[in-house]
Amino acid sequence: MRHEFGVAVPGPLMCAPRIVRFAHDVARGNRRSAAGVPRVGLAGAAGSVDSGRTAGQPGEPKAGVPRRRALLGAGLAAFGAATVAAAGPAAAGSGGVLDLTHPLGPDLPVWPGNPPFVSVPVATYERGGFAQNAIASWEHIGTHVDAPLHRDPRGIGVDLIAPEDLVAPLVVLDIRARVGADPDAAVTVADIDAWRAAHGEIPERAFVAALTGWESRLAEPAAFLNLDATGTQRTPGWTPEAAAHLITECGAVGFGIDTLSLDRGAARDSPAHTAILGSGRYGVEMLADLAAAPAAGATVVVGAPKHTGGTGGPARVLALT
Ligand SMILES: [Zn+2]
Repeated sequence: MRHEFGVAVPGPLMCAPRIVRFAHDVARGNRRSAAGVPRVGLAGAAGSVDSGRTAGQPGEPKAGVPRRRALLGAGLAAFGAATVAAAGPAAAGSGGVLDLTHPLGPDLPVWPGNPPFVSVPVATYERGGFAQNAIASWEHIGTHVDAPLHRDPRGIGVDLIAPEDLVAPLVVLDIRARVGADPDAAVTVADIDAWRAAHGEIPERAFVAALTGWESRLAEPAAFLNLDATGTQRTPGWTPEAAAHLITECGAVGFGIDTLSLDRGAARDSPAHTAILGSGRYGVEMLADLAAAPAAGATVVVGAPKHTGGTGGPARVLALT
């Protein structure tokens, strides 16, 4: 007899980790075995590799990659996400869950002029037996969704974003090298082509996130906002051309970034917001820990809020690796 939450429960543990993993397998189109064990494993490293994918799909070793490197990747996947995360991005197919969400609290940098997040206890264990807080914030705070309605008066609110658009193949475009030398750097079509050269075609209906490395400034809010003498944020972002390309050529459903805005801070009239939200797609700003996500092969789950007529709101965003 064991106890769960103070209640005696007979029998063995029913909710085994592999059952949870099975749900992930379904979300990813059954690319792994029903038992939740990646089909690439130590046995594969010993000689037989069966990734469960067809050649050329995202996450598949690029044509020409030495077989030995492919086998090494297979072995890493078998050791689990925790081991891999310590050494760099999680391997696609490792069965891990990454949290791409910043904790929402009063110290998190917010858009200039917006109020910080507020949480006030309104019920306590001592009075009534339950704890509860009243929370207040503007919608666009922390790791949050931009619904089309945020930019486009004819666009849908966050409550009307189709659930099938909130679970999508995750594509990560890494522009950190350029941002290091130029805070005004932006994602371009050339970055998309470079991703294709390394990983294959962009999956259809993908969620494409820009990894700028801006998160490293989070501990210093002034450095995170990076205002210049005119009060303009000097921060990286998306070009509208790159966003439009992904929408028209690949049917991308969502766009992410690790800064406060989809647009470069210095861009006039928010052209990336217009390209993305004006096309009925949604954005997620201020993503966390994108560097730990694989560039290809993961699935993103955007836990968008669902308040009626909302223009967006704080979200829990996960990557299934
Ligand atoms: Zn926003």
